[in-house]
Amino acid sequence: MTVPGQTSAKPRDAIASRSRWPLLAQPTALVAYLCAIVALDLTLLGTMTRTTAFRVDDMVTFLALMGCGAVCIEATRRLGMPAGVSRDLLSAWWLPVAFLLPPVYALLAPVPLQILLQLRVRATLVYRRVFSAAAIGLAAGAASAVFHHWIRDPAQLHGGTGGPIALAAGSAVIFTVLNTALIAVAAHANDPEGSWGEVLWDRERLLLDAVELCLGVVVAVVCGLNLALLLLVLPPVVLLQRSLLHAQLQAAARTDPKTGLLNAAAWQREADTEIIRAQRTGVPLALVLVDIDHFKKVNDTYGHLVGDQVLIQVATTLRSQLREYDVVGRFGGEEFVVLLPGADVHEARRVAERLRRRVGRMAVAAEQAAVTVTVSAGVAIMNVHGDDLIELLAAADLALYRAKELGRDRICLPATPAAPPQQRADGATGAIP
Ligand code: GH3
Ligand code: MG
Ligand code: MG
Repeated sequence: MTVPGQTSAKPRDAIASRSRWPLLAQPTALVAYLCAIVALDLTLLGTMTRTTAFRVDDMVTFLALMGCGAVCIEATRRLGMPAGVSRDLLSAWWLPVAFLLPPVYALLAPVPLQILLQLRVRATLVYRRVFSAAAIGLAAGAASAVFHHWIRDPAQLHGGTGGPIALAAGSAVIFTVLNTALIAVAAHANDPEGSWGEVLWDRERLLLDAVELCLGVVVAVVCGLNLALLLLVLPPVVLLQRSLLHAQLQAAARTDPKTGLLNAAAWQREADTEIIRAQRTGVPLALVLVDIDHFKKVNDTYGHLVGDQVLIQVATTLRSQLREYDVVGRFGGEEFVVLLPGADVHEARRVAERLRRRVGRMAVAAEQAAVTVTVSAGVAIMNVHGDDLIELLAAADLALYRAKELGRDRICLPATPAAPPQQRADGATGAIP
């Protein structure tokens, strides 16, 4: 392991004070972007509040739609909400607000519902909630402004003609695109290495966007016909919202929240399936156990927040170096495990060596230095070092122990008496038995 830069109490103090203000611990570009979006939202809200004529009818419609949103949140509260960017169907309520009421209501709508989510469902970092409310508000406000520019009287929406409905659908697309873009920029400022594609395009996400769009337009038409009809649309929307959350929670239960890799239990289930397939077909298979060297020193020197960033970046590096069907998981604190279906001993060595080299080249920015780490890996081959998952794990663990003993930053296979020592690719005196 290399932990460049001197060890001093300064970075830790800075990190400790920043942990009281989590926003300040974020990259400067992200802080500037979040503040700009919230400021824009507040400015528009202030300006429009002064220029809008508030009518009792509009306020009743607004309260009815917010009430439906609140019922939706309460009805799904017990299921909980997965961490990170999660999806809900709340735009079924704020899109009608955008179409039926003046744009200022669209800017306002996310505020009460985000407060309710924060208080009743999941207390997350406050700046994230504030940003979400601003991003949704701006996107819905833009959709509302476009819709009202063309349709002077929202009653046309339930008049039966196609034009206003098509325009509502088009405005809903504007809402979705803008909202996704505003969040994608924040995600990218947070992790400039990450790919835009991951944040923007995903088949599941597009499908959900389409469902939200349809729901938003249908609820707006129904609500425009008669406010009381909301009582008929509320139950199906609640049911949809529950099944959506259920699916997300199921996915979250498989993943390690810090690194996004499979957690140990999910990895084991998938690995078991691959091993049974390899046993049946006779195709080779290898297991690699990867452990960060001297990781405790990284935590001790730079603090746990930097340690976490190292873990995330190691996980990203591992994932980026593996094939789609390799099974990679976080096994324990700073230990990762990779199953390589189809890999024989040569392929497994090659892959493990590549992983070691790639992790060794990465650097995580800390207060005063770039933190680099090395990893050691133990490799075990199916039908050579073990016949099932437990045996393979035990063999890889022993090999990993040897790699540590021999000086770390190397890969090892379980010792076999006949195996000759090899020269490491980088010329160091490493043993790869
Ligand atoms: P070795 O080279 O022998 O593997 O030494 P090591 O320091 O990496 O191993 P050790 O088992 O002594 O320490 C592992 C450290 O990993 C201790 C623990 O605090 C840290 N750790 C485990 N999980 C996390 C985590 O989620 N985040 C952070 N920041 N640290 C973690
Ligand atoms: Mg370690
Ligand atoms: Mg360890």
